[in-house]
Amino acid sequence: QKEAFLRQVPLIVFSEDIGISEKVLEILTKIKEDLKENRITIYLQPKVDLNSGEIIGAEALMRCSVPPGEAIPVITEYGLLFDVGEVILKKSLNVLRRLERLNVNIPISVNVSYSQLIDKRFIPLIDKLIKNYRINPELLVFEITETEATKCTENLMETLEEIKKRKIKLSIDDFGTGYSSLSRLKLLKAWEIKIDKSFILNLDRNIEDKSIVKFIIDIGKLLSLEVVAEGIEKQEQIDILKELGCYKGQGFFFYPPLPVEEFFNLITKKR
Ligand code: C2E
Ligand code: MG
Ligand code: MG
Ligand code: MG
Repeated sequence: QKEAFLRQVPLIVFSEDIGISEKVLEILTKIKEDLKENRITIYLQPKVDLNSGEIIGAEALMRCSVPPGEAIPVITEYGLLFDVGEVILKKSLNVLRRLERLNVNIPISVNVSYSQLIDKRFIPLIDKLIKNYRINPELLVFEITETEATKCTENLMETLEEIKKRKIKLSIDDFGTGYSSLSRLKLLKAWEIKIDKSFILNLDRNIEDKSIVKFIIDIGKLLSLEVVAEGIEKQEQIDILKELGCYKGQGFFFYPPLPVEEFFNLITKKR
């Protein structure tokens, strides 16, 4: 089955299409090899309570032999995202199942892209996986970037509706970098928004960033959404976030994305 899909991306496309850059070609070749050799995996970055430091969730981030920032656009462009996404989902649901067995009921967030969500195979896949892994869907969160969430096509809205029916939560990622209106945000019925790390970077030095972050936190409160800050690297940022009313965060200050086994070592040690 995997072989069949790997064949869907014929090598001839790479060599004959002069429009494809050498760099992209190199990335594609690596990703195809990663898939074949089962080298696509996830790291888990804990999400913490800014007051207590307690781990309140984790985000699954894809790892392969290419950095995700380069891999994701190429994977998307060349139609590999559904299959790569399936690997990521299986590994994430397996983490959820292991956590439930340890009686640690924290949510796991999985990044999903627009092209995955509008794929007709997506919801049937989710149903199959929830059944096979026997996880509580209320502990599963799908992160979709604000930019992609505001595409707001009928197909996307339908899938989001199906996701909600299954009690899976929706999180709007990289919030502040897209163009959501308040009405659109209301329509999405998200559970959480994640303040983009670009606004957190200079939070302690840039007055405009501080105003933007305050504005986002206030929007979150207005619509009863959970608000999480991403990219926290120092104490000064935490102090300001708390002052502005944001009590949840993620970042290298607390934990970097961790290999799955390291994450479980941390979880079992913390209990
Ligand atoms: P994202 O979902 O917004 O993930 C946050 C990114 O910030 C991650 O980069 C993470 O490693 C990084 N990060 C975490 N803490 C800090 C910090 O304190 N400082 C800084 N500078 N960075 C921090 P990563 O893993 O390279 O992922 C980049 C993006 O690729 C993600 O952004 C997400 O949009 C996408 N992505 C990653 N995994 C997947 C996946 O499985 N599926 C899909 N569709 N997209 C994914
Ligand atoms: Mg994310
Ligand atoms: Mg983000
Ligand atoms: Mg991002």
